Amino acid sequence: MKLYSTNNKDLRVSFQEAVFNSLPADKGLYMPEVIPVLDPAFIRQIQQYSLQEIALEVAHALIGDDIPKDDLQAIIADAINFDAPVRFLDAETGVLELFHGPSYAFKDFGARFMSRVMGYFSKQGDQLLDVLVATSGDTGGAVASGFLGVDGTRVTILYPKGKVSKVQEEQLTTNGENIRALEVDGTFDDCQALVKTAFNDADVNKVLRLTSANSINIARLIPQTFYYFWAYAQLKSQGISEVVFTVPSGNFGNIGAGLLAYKMGLPVTHFVAGTNVNDTVPRFLQSGSYDPKPSVQTLANAMDVGDPSNWVRIQDLFQNNLDELRGVISSYTYDDDQTVKAMEELYTNYQYIACPHTAIAYLASKQYKQDHPGTYASVFLSTAHPCKFPDAISQEVFAKIELPEGAEDLAGKPKLATEMPADYASFKTYLLAHK
Ligand SMILES: *Cc1c(COP(=O)(O)O)cnc(C)c1O
Repeated sequence: MKLYSTNNKDLRVSFQEAVFNSLPADKGLYMPEVIPVLDPAFIRQIQQYSLQEIALEVAHALIGDDIPKDDLQAIIADAINFDAPVRFLDAETGVLELFHGPSYAFKDFGARFMSRVMGYFSKQGDQLLDVLVATSGDTGGAVASGFLGVDGTRVTILYPKGKVSKVQEEQLTTNGENIRALEVDGTFDDCQALVKTAFNDADVNKVLRLTSANSINIARLIPQTFYYFWAYAQLKSQGISEVVFTVPSGNFGNIGAGLLAYKMGLPVTHFVAGTNVNDTVPRFLQSGSYDPKPSVQTLANAMDVGDPSNWVRIQDLFQNNLDELRGVISSYTYDDDQTVKAMEELYTNYQYIACPHTAIAYLASKQYKQDHPGTYASVFLSTAHPCKFPDAISQEVFAKIELPEGAEDLAGKPKLATEMPADYASFKTYLLAHK
């Protein structure tokens, strides 16, 4: 697999280089030079395969010989060791549950696969790979558990003090081993600025081999295609072959992977992006002009993104053809009141407790069906377990949530975090003092 930059189609880098760089120097995004189309016979019979078997076919088609198929199979067996079931709320509405991994959010797919690919490409004797990551909550937990115990790597997570939920903080701070948590007295934006400054600091780069784990890494995108194929396989085994996927979207990595799957031959009828009031993409689809805004805080805070960094990748997949894009994606926006009402409705009508992000997808999925009636199945993606977002859920309903396996053990573990003011001098001192 060779990749170009969305800012320079003449550039070619290897998969390994793209994984370690995360971003090309020209600040574009890496894209595969060709999008492979899967054998139609494979898609026709996809219901015969397991999630891991499907993942291997898809990943092999994309990555090619950069990772031999046997090694890729081992990486997938280790990384994708949990299910992504479609649960039906009624005959034509399903929820694709992506929160059955160790950090209870869909980011486990990307983080676990990427960590193992980085571990695979790190040779014995290479300098320790230092992964720096700023998190508003979910990314850090997925990256921590993804890299925990991966040889040759060390992770430093910066999170804003008092601004992540209890379960999220426990997932960030109870790992030990090769995972370090920094509790920054500031906001998520402060954390992100500290990481960015470190990447551009020559003193730090002289002594540490830094890499980023953020969502634009190509090794996070690839595994997110797996569950679209797997959901389709589950529907097919029920005799359903037409599906509209609705994706709660912030940075647009998740839906970007769905669109990549579509370009690889997955027969999806339509995609719907549900957003909170950070509505840069819905406005773009309407007006045709891309006009990013500073992000606004909402209950669905993992989607508080004013300038979605994966959007250029989607534009690239569609060669900037707005009409084609509009034929494949629709988008709807909801505020916090609507989100809370949707969570109540899901509970009342289906006894289903959803996180706020998932509730937004439910609303968008329902809206699309109203606007475009048809015989297709509406499947919306559930991106996190509701136990991660207690502030958005009434106490009465929260008490009814069945905690996922391991959540109670987590609460008993000691917190390991270093407190830090939001200034770069302190962060730099920390990095250099702990080589
Ligand atoms: C990250 C995240 C999202 C947004 O996904 P994108 O790929 O950034 O669009 C939605 N829901 C949850 C729970 C998340 O953690």
